[in-house]
Amino acid sequence: MSYFLGLDLGTSAVKCILVDERGAVAGSHSVEYPLDQPHPGWAEQHPEDWWQGTVQGIRELLDHTGTSGVDIIGIGFSGQMHGSVFLDADQAVIRPALLWCDQRTAEQCAQIEQAVGVDELGRLTGNRALTGFTAPKVLWLRQHEPEHYARVRHLLLPKDYVRLRLTGALGMDVADASGTLLLDVAARRWSQAVTERLDIPLDWLPPLYESGEIAGRLLPEAAALTGLAAGTPVVAGGGDQACGAVGVGVVREGIASVALGTSGVVFVHDDAYQTDEAYRLHSFCHGVPGKWHRMGVMLAAGGALQWWRRHFAHEELARAQAEGRDVYNVLTSEAAAAPLGSEGLLFLPYLTGERTPHPDPKARGGFIGLNLRHGKAHLTRAVLEGITFGLRDSLELIRASGVAVRELRVSGGGARSPMWRQMIADIFGIPVVTVNSTDGPAYGAAVMAASGVLGRDITELCDEWIRIVDRAEPDAARHAAYEPYYRIYRELYAALKPAFHQLSDLAAQG
Ligand code: ADP
Repeated sequence: MSYFLGLDLGTSAVKCILVDERGAVAGSHSVEYPLDQPHPGWAEQHPEDWWQGTVQGIRELLDHTGTSGVDIIGIGFSGQMHGSVFLDADQAVIRPALLWCDQRTAEQCAQIEQAVGVDELGRLTGNRALTGFTAPKVLWLRQHEPEHYARVRHLLLPKDYVRLRLTGALGMDVADASGTLLLDVAARRWSQAVTERLDIPLDWLPPLYESGEIAGRLLPEAAALTGLAAGTPVVAGGGDQACGAVGVGVVREGIASVALGTSGVVFVHDDAYQTDEAYRLHSFCHGVPGKWHRMGVMLAAGGALQWWRRHFAHEELARAQAEGRDVYNVLTSEAAAAPLGSEGLLFLPYLTGERTPHPDPKARGGFIGLNLRHGKAHLTRAVLEGITFGLRDSLELIRASGVAVRELRVSGGGARSPMWRQMIADIFGIPVVTVNSTDGPAYGAAVMAASGVLGRDITELCDEWIRIVDRAEPDAARHAAYEPYYRIYRELYAALKPAFHQLSDLAAQG
């Protein structure tokens, strides 16, 4: 039997999975590495830790599954996006990488929007300048560590650095490159206009590939370290969002996904490049060649429910332990007993500010409409409904562009709850499905590897390998009953924004 190796270089760990030629997962293994936060809001990692973790992960996966390296016929990559790996002329790492969640570059984002213009930047790159993106990190290095900046000759994203160590080849896929703010996303090539305006040398940027293209072959020394065979093809892969979407089969128009983890991501496949007028959705190249995607990001989705559980679910936790159940299962059963709309109660989920559709770090959460009849079950239900309304905001931006979404594929911790899946179907008015592949971005990376090695379409492979295992149909009456609640929800952010900002400023003063 031959296998494809999917590697997902995450923020806390690298996950390695083996997928056989029929698409079945034959084994998986993760190795963790540290995250440094040298100052509040900063987040850095050492590329060497990624490399060591990947080598160890592959070796242990082969060991645990009793697989011989020669049976691995292709390798694909997924990875945390946006991180900046600065390399010198000898391809040596100059300083730790600044990660996607690093917040130090607010000033540089403003400078970029000033230098390029918000509209021009949006037109060219499909996005506004956000602190997580790569280009602001380059400007930060130039302004704060000029001695390091002077040595830079290559700029890579995290997974591309590990592929460089495996293959000796510099490269980046267009899906992940979309998060640099330096890519002409519509044309799928580096943007000369943006790099010139920001004074970033174009020759620091690596050759570009589509996700399923072979971007290098395993070096003999990397083969010796990992136990794989020298010459094994390594495809370009993609950023974790694109790989996660491929991993659940979001590879044609009309199909969207919701990744319901700590944050929430609504992701839709686009056959043509599209943006919304204020660039509230991110527009990126997809991992499917010649296709694009848009996504909305909600900062506290499952994170808001987790906050609720941590502080207010002590009784539920005790009950869960006594009954041998998951505490989220107890919470969602309780919420199911409260009526739809939580008897006139709405929850705003902006607990850590918001990204889509309100890019506002000072947005705040709240319960609106409390009365004496409300008890714990109402509040828990309102939290679930509020998070779901927040996700629907992204869907509405997608719908406004004329794309009709007919199926939603859900994944992540929140997707474990049948009650929540039905609520999403009812609030969105769209069928919600779960699929057999639950290995997320690592699975998408393996699909990309298979595509490159077997010379097959990613879409075709997804159709063959990924099956729907559960489907929740929207209930028309419940959908109609949710509509007035959603309309009120949509008006609350604008109405409360001044209060959110004042409260956030007061809290910051201590
Ligand atoms: P991360 O984004 O941190 O990887 P996960 O995808 O594991 O997170 O999702 C974790 C979140 O999923 C939790 O914070 C919680 O909100 C939600 N969750 C986990 N299990 C359940 C469940 N059984 N029912 C409802 N929500 C759940």
